[in-house]
Amino acid sequence: DLVPIRRALISVSDKTGLAALAKALHGHGTEILSTGGTARAIAEAGAPVTEVSDHTGFPEMLDGRVKTLHPTIHGGILGLRGNPEHEAAMAEHGIAPIDLVVVNLYPFESTVAKGADFATCVENIDIGGPALIRAAAKNHTAVAVVTDPEDYEALLADLKTHSGCVSMDLRRLLAARAFGRTAAYDAAIGRWFSGEVGETFPRHLVAAGRLKQSLRYGENPHQEAAFYVHGLARPGVANAHQVQGKELSYNNLNDTDAAFDLVSEFSDPAVAIIKHANPCGVAVGETLRGAYEKALACDPVSAFGGIVAVNRALDRAAAEAITSIFTEVVIAPDADDQAKAVFAVKKNLRLLITGVMPDPTTPGLTIRSVAGGMLAQTRDTGRVDEADLKVVTKRAPTPAEMSDLLLAFRVCKHVKSNAIVYVKDGVTVGIGAGQMSRVDSARIAARKADDAARAAGITVPLTQGSVVASDAFFPFADGLTAAVEAGATAVIQPGGSVRDDEVIAAADAAGLAMVFTGMRHFRH
Ligand code: 5GP
Repeated sequence: DLVPIRRALISVSDKTGLAALAKALHGHGTEILSTGGTARAIAEAGAPVTEVSDHTGFPEMLDGRVKTLHPTIHGGILGLRGNPEHEAAMAEHGIAPIDLVVVNLYPFESTVAKGADFATCVENIDIGGPALIRAAAKNHTAVAVVTDPEDYEALLADLKTHSGCVSMDLRRLLAARAFGRTAAYDAAIGRWFSGEVGETFPRHLVAAGRLKQSLRYGENPHQEAAFYVHGLARPGVANAHQVQGKELSYNNLNDTDAAFDLVSEFSDPAVAIIKHANPCGVAVGETLRGAYEKALACDPVSAFGGIVAVNRALDRAAAEAITSIFTEVVIAPDADDQAKAVFAVKKNLRLLITGVMPDPTTPGLTIRSVAGGMLAQTRDTGRVDEADLKVVTKRAPTPAEMSDLLLAFRVCKHVKSNAIVYVKDGVTVGIGAGQMSRVDSARIAARKADDAARAAGITVPLTQGSVVASDAFFPFADGLTAAVEAGATAVIQPGGSVRDDEVIAAADAAGLAMVFTGMRHFRH
């Protein structure tokens, strides 16, 4: 099961670790074949190397589009060892076996991420590289294939243990990784190209990514988990820099993503506190500190151990407020040195910095798995503005109610259905999430607002004089009645129920102002 590595082909765009690898292979007596740039780097490192073009007698050509696509190379990789016919054919055509292929591909993903033009992206689609990788992985019984500089160490350790040979176990593992790499590479190309031609749902859904991080466990400790990134990501958890704190968990990443997405909706300073991917307090204010304090007051019990997202650079005042209670993760576009110093005292708190805020209207797909397949949909980039609203009651909202209504509906979009959100003066005062009945969500939101008021020693419910948003229409008047009982004065909802008339009559009877958005924001 051991394969001696007599001849290796190395062709890498990312030259990390190349010099050490080449020298170590040379130390094992391996002959190295290599393409132009790689050969130069190996020679500079002081290891002997043969150019592929000298080996094949055929030059690299067409701007590098054809370098290794030659029968002498592919025959050397694909020929079955110990098969008389294959060996005879190889001998007849002067094809020398190649036992190790080390290739990493043209940097397509990072070229796209840099915003390169179409032609540059196309030129960064590697053709010969994937062919080499797939050939070597297919013939893994005789050939080892390495597609990632992070695997050089494992290769060299195996070579050392087995005196210049590579074990079957490692060859199989590397082959599996190799096919994963070419699949992810082509997925990135397919995904990018579909976007370029405006095809949202390609015939073949390309959902693949590179392992960014193994996670300690999944949603629960008995589940394994990992974090994958596909390199075409919007700013957020995938490319954030972790300034401090413990390793992020699966739930942290999921919740932090939800939190950051929510605050990206607002242009004024905004804060969201998230638990289990649902907000338990969202506020917009003049300063981050002010917004944080208001958001916290919405549900201080749930906020304990929560995730905090902000849409501005954190300053010292905001950092001090946030660290006043136990918080798991803070995500922000930036933080100044004073804010960082405040967080530094809280060793366990994870601080993530993204550099920029994502544009909430950027199109994209969300994907989830179902038995035997995947469900994909475009991101919910829908946003309603005042001009989109239809007043359906006798009374129209006041300007103050209107601004709270728009905030409430925008928060609703980020709350699991059925979602009911009460807002007063730019801050959520009651959130009902994830209930199977809308009236239950309305009652829970009002009850939580009562609890928060009581805890703060306030005698009137926080929902008194508030406005309320519903993510989908009220199917009956009972949900609206619950809102009236909670003291709401205005309502925003999509409308469209067969019983809209009953719901409008109930609103009019209570003197409420109600607007229809015509847009629903289910979130499951
Ligand atoms: P170098 O820096 O050695 O000149 O080029 C290395 C890169 O060329 C690697 O990323 C490798 O995947 C790629 N490569 C190797 N053979 C071919 C080929 O025949 N066609 C194309 N387009 N790329 C190749």
